[in-house]
Amino acid sequence: MNIDLRNKVALVSGASRGIGRAVAVGLAKSGAFTYVNFVRNEEGAQYTLKIIQDNGAQGSTIQFPVEDRIAVQEGIKKILIEKGRLDILVNNAGIWIGGSSLRLRGDQWKRLLEVNLEGAFNCIQASVRPMMKQRWGRIINISSVIAFSGNVGDALYGASKAGVVGMTKSLAREFASRNICINAVAPGFIETDMTRDISAEVRNEMLEMIPLGRFGAPEDVAGVVVFLASDEASYITGQVIHVNGGLYM
Ligand code: NAP
Repeated sequence: MNIDLRNKVALVSGASRGIGRAVAVGLAKSGAFTYVNFVRNEEGAQYTLKIIQDNGAQGSTIQFPVEDRIAVQEGIKKILIEKGRLDILVNNAGIWIGGSSLRLRGDQWKRLLEVNLEGAFNCIQASVRPMMKQRWGRIINISSVIAFSGNVGDALYGASKAGVVGMTKSLAREFASRNICINAVAPGFIETDMTRDISAEVRNEMLEMIPLGRFGAPEDVAGVVVFLASDEASYITGQVIHVNGGLYM
């Protein structure tokens, strides 16, 4: 299969490290001009861009917090002014807050939902109009295995990521007639900053539950996202693709 994203413009939220970085590099290497979004870590975003350029591909960095609706609209307006189109949106930006639900505070609840769920919606709302005009669009939302399997201490995070799935399905129906395919990818345990502080004991327990016997790499997720962004995936919408080594089936 030859994935060709030349002449496409992509935006990846939270692409300054981890899964977002691998996705941005994957899209750019397939030919898309790729915008690398970040919120604080400009150095990380510049490094993602350097990897893109070192691969002979093209892109740019763009700063905005996904939960800030106005900033998102302005950021996407800038992309449209610069490139005249936006074809692919990957809602990857996310945060993790966990712990006993007896101790979770209201501000943590609000924060997780505003970044993980509302943030994705803000980006979709601002991107979908140009995609409608183009009669071509791809939106890929990053959910999590925890939305499906549950996990002790992850009531809030799991709710935010289950929300991403519900949103994906309704939006997929809403925009299918405009040839916009909207899917979710649900990663399992992927080696990034988000999972770095998990104790060796918990890691070993998790590893035993993964049939493929290893944790995932960001590139494992990126390959699926790049496929979903391509013409090869033009008959797939409203789906969740699990990338978890068999952890959840
Ligand atoms: P990560 O290494 O912690 O990176 C998070 C990224 O999101 C960074 O680029 C960060 O930007 C960005 N970000 C955070 N808050 C943001 C905001 N308000 N606005 C814009 N960008 C923001 O995370 P990861 O492990 O790569 O995870 C990426 C996605 O996959 C998340 O949605 C996560 O929930 C999901 N996921 C991860 C795993 C896993 O095992 N790692 C499993 C399932 C799902 P800065 O660098 O500027 O802070």
